[in-house]
Amino acid sequence: MTARMIDGKAIAAELSQSIADAARRVTTEHGIEPGLAVVLVGDNPASEIYVRSKTAKTAATNMRSSFHKLPATAPEAELLELVERLNHDRTVHGILVQLPLPPQIDPRKVIEAIAPAKDVDGFHPLTAGLLSTGLPGIVPCTPLACLILAKKVHGSLAGLEAVVIGRSNIVGKPLAQLLLMENATVTIAHSKTRDLPAVCRRGDIVFAAVGQPEMVRRDWIKPGATVIDVGINRVPDADGKPKIVGDVAFAEVAEIAGAITPVPGGVGPMTIACLMLNTLKAACAQNGLPPPMPNP
Ligand code: NAP
Repeated sequence: MTARMIDGKAIAAELSQSIADAARRVTTEHGIEPGLAVVLVGDNPASEIYVRSKTAKTAATNMRSSFHKLPATAPEAELLELVERLNHDRTVHGILVQLPLPPQIDPRKVIEAIAPAKDVDGFHPLTAGLLSTGLPGIVPCTPLACLILAKKVHGSLAGLEAVVIGRSNIVGKPLAQLLLMENATVTIAHSKTRDLPAVCRRGDIVFAAVGQPEMVRRDWIKPGATVIDVGINRVPDADGKPKIVGDVAFAEVAEIAGAITPVPGGVGPMTIACLMLNTLKAACAQNGLPPPMPNP
């Protein structure tokens, strides 16, 4: 391996410590304990793991979490009622509804039901609109995580060629908006992009948010480029046991990239740290307080 490893776990731990310090200050100086409500519908094992780590992280950063679990058969109206209750709960500053939702529930309706001020995931259309017009607002966690990691390597992204593979509303599109705001030259690629390897080779930074295990290969990467892997894919290992891999063929790409995030231990832990940051900032904004800490 020649690439520098971008240690998302260590960078997230450092950010979490600053968030924990700022959250304690907000509580002691203003009597406001930032609170995150986490909602899970059903028993998806991966979702259970994500929800557990998010609630644990909330406590570790000196904030309060409440956990709300509904059965897999819960009707849409029941979830919408819960969201409405949380919207009006003054001890809750952030609401996270874990996706995916069971088929009887329309995720769009649920996302749109969350009060934009408490939309700490950053998925609400109003939040997306603020971001795309460059107005202040909540920044979605995973794109923010990617941006922070890229800036750890490059400092300024101005003038760099950034290639984002994936155009989802939760990762690819908001990430492209953030990169534009940082003055990168941004290309968004997707499943209909022609000659994707050639497009990727233009990138000084390549972000892979595809959901295809190890799709990005060594010859897709310009020597020395930075590679940020958002993918979380469950695949069987040699013994048939499940393991997690990213969207990038890590071992071979690490031989040519300048810097690369591992999976796990890259974007994942940073995403959770950014969720905590959004919750803390939302608590301050809802109480008319200034931003609790400088932007990371
Ligand atoms: P998504 O909604 O399924 O979007 C995938 C995107 O990739 C789409 O834009 C799709 O193109 C594109 N794509 C699919 N196959 C492609 C191919 N063969 N060539 C080029 N583009 C292709 O996924 P997502 O929600 O953005 O998530 C992407 C990945 O990130 C997943 O592995 C997910 O688990 C992971 N993720 C990780 C975190 C984290 O915290 N680390 C958070 C969120 C997501 P079209 O638009 O043309 O269909």
